[in-house]
Amino acid sequence: MAKNVHHVVSRPGLDADDPAVEIPVAEDLVSVPGSPVRDRDVTFYSREYPIESQTIEKSADRAWGWTIYIKDVFDYRKKHEKVSEPLIEAAAVTGEIEPTASPEPGVDVTASIRDRARELGFGEVGFTKYDRRYTYASKKKWVKYGNAICLALEQDYSQTQSIPSLEAEFAHFGTYEVAGDLGLQLADHIRSLGYHAQVHSPNDNSGAFIPIFVNAGLGQLGANGQLLSPHFGSRARLMIITTDAPVTRDEAVDYGINKFCDQCQVCVARCPARALLKDKVWYRGVLKNKLIYDRCRPIMVTYEGCGICMKVCPIQRYGMKPVMEHYIETGDILGKGTDNLEGYEIREKGYFGPGELPHFNRQAFEIPHGSKEEWLFENFKKKVQENGGASTEDAEEFAKELKTIVATGVARTDE
Ligand code: SF4
Ligand code: SF4
Repeated sequence: MAKNVHHVVSRPGLDADDPAVEIPVAEDLVSVPGSPVRDRDVTFYSREYPIESQTIEKSADRAWGWTIYIKDVFDYRKKHEKVSEPLIEAAAVTGEIEPTASPEPGVDVTASIRDRARELGFGEVGFTKYDRRYTYASKKKWVKYGNAICLALEQDYSQTQSIPSLEAEFAHFGTYEVAGDLGLQLADHIRSLGYHAQVHSPNDNSGAFIPIFVNAGLGQLGANGQLLSPHFGSRARLMIITTDAPVTRDEAVDYGINKFCDQCQVCVARCPARALLKDKVWYRGVLKNKLIYDRCRPIMVTYEGCGICMKVCPIQRYGMKPVMEHYIETGDILGKGTDNLEGYEIREKGYFGPGELPHFNRQAFEIPHGSKEEWLFENFKKKVQENGGASTEDAEEFAKELKTIVATGVARTDE
């Protein structure tokens, strides 16, 4: 049955010269612009329990992942690290580079930055306050400047539909590589306008980007834990540039996603690891569907980055406008229950259509937890408990491994 339209969101077309798109939002999908947030809780958690990069907090399973990747993935990831290294190094010092011109007093440079970003290929561009509360503890001193330019670069459509596959990993990491380079070019443009520009490399994140993108009106948080933006849903890679340029900030938007996900639930039902939860919970001051990391991670590492939760999302597959129009006309979720949307193939497991999920034994979910040093200590403690003490050899081995961890630090690239 047809639904009433509450409001229509107008967004720029996918390409810079495409006409604007009008996305209708049904009355029964209206919630709040952006995400439901308890501001005081976000502040409290950020101050008392700041978030940290998984490359630091979860370094034990990051290291383990390299021992699990199939050869093709291992080789490609090594290549990606090599390509990313100079991009990460270049981005790390961008905050210190002085502008190459004097700013024109009183001129709002928002349009100039947006146009250049679109010309470079970013499909979604938005401006907002840089909310430091979402910065990783280890990056808090690094981040400069109060305005955030949010940039989403679309990844290849066809490659993404082959998820989970090596092909899709080319789209995933290849897009990060391109975005890293384009971000540096955009920063040059901002400096030519007379302002500073700090590139937060997409290959070495400085914090949680999605809440900042949501505040810039570029989408809403999906039940799959990803940003659902109008044109390509979560089929994009995100990066931020912070700047002291005087820009006009965008506002958060209600696209109807908060409530749409409650009804859709395709990603929740299709996740092979059962890592996505049906109900939203308040987490660190935000109402969201919380992913269970320890269930997702082993499947992600074992099966070419998984990403089924991205692949089966109708917003990713068909775009937000057709999905929302279909919902208004029929009350149904476009593609739900079809092989076209929900089907996927997992290496050595076969094809799984709607309603079918692979089975994994308990061992498949046994991964190292925490940081490398925490995991080393856990194992040492277990040995002491089992043997009623530690031998000199055990203690020496523990000290040797700890020394190696301290000396090598952690990997820098994020996933
Ligand atoms: S990446 Fe795969 S395992 Fe992880 S949440 Fe998505 S569908 Fe589930
Ligand atoms: S698959 Fe459905 S429930 Fe999951 S993120 Fe996409 S729209 Fe939301």
